[in-house]
Amino acid sequence: MSLVRDTKEISEMVRLCRDINGEGTIDLIKIVKALDIHLIDTTQHNYLKSQEYGKIVYDATEGKAIIIFDEKQPLYLQRFTVAHEVGHYLLRFWEPTSLGKEIIRALDELIGITIEREASMFAKMLLQEPEPDLSEGKKL
Ligand SMILES: [Zn+2]
Repeated sequence: MSLVRDTKEISEMVRLCRDINGEGTIDLIKIVKALDIHLIDTTQHNYLKSQEYGKIVYDATEGKAIIIFDEKQPLYLQRFTVAHEVGHYLLRFWEPTSLGKEIIRALDELIGITIEREASMFAKMLLQEPEPDLSEGKKL
């Protein structure tokens, strides 16, 4: 993978999540579970700063990623936030480097805007409802 994820790389990760999800509306809890990510809200951990909707952190003791989201936000925003953090996880979090998390943090600062944009693009693509099949004379 190159430094900047292109649309093809992002779509591949969206497809992975859609495969986990199966048919129908995206079930983020199912996807997060399948990816072995711990999901918690701010009633369990008050880690979020006032301007943050959510974040992903690494729990070294458990060896697991944790997504924290704000359950007081409207549902669509909670869903977008969790999907966005899953995007960070799949596009960057486990990038294998000898320096692990530290190099990723340095990268984050260098290309912070890019990684935010690609995680949001991932979230948008994942949460988008599939287009109805209007072929063969089917009507809305
Ligand atoms: Zn982000």
